[in-house]
Amino acid sequence: MRLIFLGPPGAGKGTQARRLVEKYSIPQLSTGDMLRAAVAAGTSIGLKAKAVMEAGQLVSDDIVIGIIVDRIEEPDAHDGFILDGFPRTVAQAEALDAALKIKSQKIDMALELKVDHDKLVNRIVNRAEESRTRGEEVRKDDDPEVFKNRLAAYERDTAIVAPYYKKQGLLVEIDGQQPIDVVTESIQKALSSILTNG
Ligand code: AMP
Repeated sequence: MRLIFLGPPGAGKGTQARRLVEKYSIPQLSTGDMLRAAVAAGTSIGLKAKAVMEAGQLVSDDIVIGIIVDRIEEPDAHDGFILDGFPRTVAQAEALDAALKIKSQKIDMALELKVDHDKLVNRIVNRAEESRTRGEEVRKDDDPEVFKNRLAAYERDTAIVAPYYKKQGLLVEIDGQQPIDVVTESIQKALSSILTNG
């Protein structure tokens, strides 16, 4: 099962993807996590991405496409994966389709978590607060000012990715404003159609 989570930053993509990892034993591929690891390790990709991420802008398509194309070749992604935070541009979506086509594979479903944008800033403030309470480092890009840039990047480049999948009949819209468990149930319901069809 090859899934994509779409939705603005703070919509709950990471949380819901992690729940599916446990249920279906397929990996969650988060470009944000991979880039943060590259920044922490000080790799050449990390050095290129650091300032862009801290400003809440998008890392270049070349870099993220390269990361994902390599990652889906790993053995643990052979039978499926859950993409979280990728694709964020139509160019990324097209590159993913092309990479999968070579392997005679395709995306099974794109789940879009819909949340009113005016609710997102509050969510991000809460996420930062929760990290602080757990004694974890707060993401620099969860700063409310940087977050506004991330939202603007979403509206400019990423909002048109959902229609890309809609055209292919792969898009399912989920109300991401419901309680977390209810969102999970809605996702399970949507997935049951592809699970029963094989
Ligand atoms: P996330 O953890 O998904 O919110 O991503 C954090 C940051 O990493 C984003 O604000 C971007 O700077 C960068 N990033 C993650 N995924 C992508 C992507 N698919 N395309 C471009 N930039 C990305």
